[in-house]
Amino acid sequence: MTLILENAAIASVDADGAEHRSGHVVIDGDTITAVGPGPAGVPGERLDAAGCLVTPGLVNTHHHLYQWATRGLAADATLFEWLVDLYPVWKRLDAGITHAAATAGMAHLAMTGCTTVADHHYVFPQDSDQIEALVAATNRIGVRAHLVRGSMDRGESDGGLPPDNLVETTEAALLGTEAAIDAHHDPARNSRIRIAAGPCSPFSVSEDLMRQAADLARRKGVRLHTHLAETLDEEEQCVAENGCTPAEYADKLGWLGDDVWLAHTVHLNGPAIRRMGATRTGSAHCPTSNGRLGTGIAPVRDLLDAGAPVGLGVDGAASNESGGLGEELHQALLQARQRGGPTALAVREALWMGTMGGARCLGRDGELGSIEPGKLADLAVWNLNGLRYAGIEDPLAALVLGATPPLKLLLVGGRPVVADGELRTDDETAIAGELAAASRRLR
Ligand code: ZN
Repeated sequence: MTLILENAAIASVDADGAEHRSGHVVIDGDTITAVGPGPAGVPGERLDAAGCLVTPGLVNTHHHLYQWATRGLAADATLFEWLVDLYPVWKRLDAGITHAAATAGMAHLAMTGCTTVADHHYVFPQDSDQIEALVAATNRIGVRAHLVRGSMDRGESDGGLPPDNLVETTEAALLGTEAAIDAHHDPARNSRIRIAAGPCSPFSVSEDLMRQAADLARRKGVRLHTHLAETLDEEEQCVAENGCTPAEYADKLGWLGDDVWLAHTVHLNGPAIRRMGATRTGSAHCPTSNGRLGTGIAPVRDLLDAGAPVGLGVDGAASNESGGLGEELHQALLQARQRGGPTALAVREALWMGTMGGARCLGRDGELGSIEPGKLADLAVWNLNGLRYAGIEDPLAALVLGATPPLKLLLVGGRPVVADGELRTDDETAIAGELAAASRRLR
């Protein structure tokens, strides 16, 4: 079936940054076949998108979906205090709670323009199949997921931050990661589920697990993800234990490279930024979570200038209770300008990070991240009609500088996931009810 979006403003986010004030996008099945100014000269089902802005679907490069069930706790804590408060709650997770939380989290992400979700799941407290719960939630909502099989093997008795009863053995973490890859990783074009290897962070994972997880990922052809350089507390601990900064530690363990993307990278010195750029290591920038936990402002301008792919992430909903990706465009721009001045990040660069930058972090820039013939039809059609955006001449300024607009349509591989502001793949009210019950049970 051919679907034609017409009369819309279009931001293609292609290499030339092509934009059309009023144009068309033609979609054949799961693929974009044409984009350009004016009406499309081909037959098909037409959708009049007057007053709307069409962008590539947003790519979320870092999340912990299970945290949707534990929002609003440790409201005024530092990262380490917040983790110590929440570890005992997460210990009680089961597959049903994770499924309810992930379904709610992905539904809300879809409603805020997100078509691809990277989820970093590192809590495996019971024998329940946590990855299966995430896969089922992904299929229910209809977005794409990059499920990072996380792990922690360094409990308190080994000098780590998490309690001993929440960590796995090194061997179990590696076996679990390999099993998730074998069961669920789909490298095909238009795949819905990919798996990555993701030891959680230097302060919860042994050096041995970091090295072996990287070896496993490269042997299996999947990507690598971890948290790095989020706080000064982490840096102090890393220097005391290893005699080097977190970025130097990652480099030493084989954790920089074009198959790696790192969450946060807030505290990087000049050489670390240049090394991230030279190795094309990706950064998942999570401005709202960084602000919520007061960790600092990531050097996004410097990373982009060094050539590192930078994408956007919401981070877990326990440190970003709103959990919407559209808002991160706005927050990324504000924080970059607070750090580097008014020219530190342009409106169009914020959109680039939320789309193409994220696709690069996930190794999918050949399929996703821009509106071009041959790319997958993952598209957000933002409705800029009405009071909130009236009189804003530049639709990208409305999207990035204003409140997140409602969606006229969200397509994933050409399939409508959101239409006229409502989730079409499941029942939003039922999902909210399931989540509330799961959250009560967890507490
Ligand atoms: Zn995180």
